[in-house]
Amino acid sequence: MVLVFDGDYSQMEKVVEKIFHAFPFSFDGKKVLIKPNILGPYPPEKGITTHPSLVHALVVALKKRGASCVVGDNPGAGGYAANERCARIAGIFDAADGCFVNFAKETIQVEVKSRLVKKLVVSKRVLDADIVINVPKFKTHLQTRITGAVKNMFGILVGAEKARVHLSAPRPKNFAEVLVDIYQIRIPDLTIMDAVVGMEGNGPSGKDLRHIGKILTSTNGVSLDAVMAAMMGLTPESVDYLNISSQRGLGEVDTAKIDIQGEWSPLEKFKMPLTFVSRGFFGATVNRLLYRPFIKPRLKVNAELCTKCGVCIEHCPVQALTLEDIPRLDEKKCIACYCCYELCSSQAIELTGLMRRVTAKKNQ
Ligand code: SF4
Ligand code: SF4
Repeated sequence: MVLVFDGDYSQMEKVVEKIFHAFPFSFDGKKVLIKPNILGPYPPEKGITTHPSLVHALVVALKKRGASCVVGDNPGAGGYAANERCARIAGIFDAADGCFVNFAKETIQVEVKSRLVKKLVVSKRVLDADIVINVPKFKTHLQTRITGAVKNMFGILVGAEKARVHLSAPRPKNFAEVLVDIYQIRIPDLTIMDAVVGMEGNGPSGKDLRHIGKILTSTNGVSLDAVMAAMMGLTPESVDYLNISSQRGLGEVDTAKIDIQGEWSPLEKFKMPLTFVSRGFFGATVNRLLYRPFIKPRLKVNAELCTKCGVCIEHCPVQALTLEDIPRLDEKKCIACYCCYELCSSQAIELTGLMRRVTAKKNQ
């Protein structure tokens, strides 16, 4: 079951009460972990991170029910100190009302059932929790098309582990597979998605915000992501990680078979990322002849916005960027993971290409 609630950020307490009424977990005496999306040092008004009002409403409601809460994430921008700094800028440190925990402090190496990685270092708090509440944001993603419940659990990886995963799985399909492997390390008990203000276009750290006015909730994050994809106008087959999750029996992805309660519909003229890749035999031919040589977007650093902070260079898993007057890209080395784009808090990395916008319809 996926529940779709209407709401804006001034009504989060009421919405959270409705959610806990619909999903009556026993929280008393339990260690409950809240995992928002704190992608980097972005203030809430940029719409890139989970809104602090939702996190705050959850903390208040859980404390009232006798739970012991922890709130945290591992933002992409690395470094131990960056973890807390990003949470402060995103407003989540204050919203957590004393429950914020620096996830980079306590880590544990786990074996992963995966074709592509054997062991990964994750935040120990995630494994210690009795109940995990995943609180992603409704956004597009340059590499994975959508980023929701499944992708948000990539944030349980600490520091350089994310870059290591990108290196082990540079192709989009492989990366989607490893995302599902990571999701299966600790499948969240409940997902509450911030879709009040979502993101279209070149997510997950782009500038195209979209007011949707919804909160999506489910005990099954895969089905919830399938509903999000449908709202973007995508079929589940067009999202690799939904396909893989479905094949593994992790959740229903056909919206005709999901019990969806509440009002929802595909969003009109929803913009998907510029990184359009066609599928099937026809699509592969188009890719070879047209997309790669002519249409594929290129990364470009806007010299006026770049502060030369070096974050993009530091986090490129294949050292494709070097700092000259501004960061310069070696396209031959680039594996198109878009970490640099995601992590540039000045939003100085832009995508250029012939195809500026592609609607969801064309992506199906
Ligand atoms: S492009 Fe962005 S992340 Fe890279 S050096 Fe410039 S401001 Fe920093
Ligand atoms: S240049 Fe950017 S997109 Fe290319 S591999 Fe490095 S971080 Fe990824």
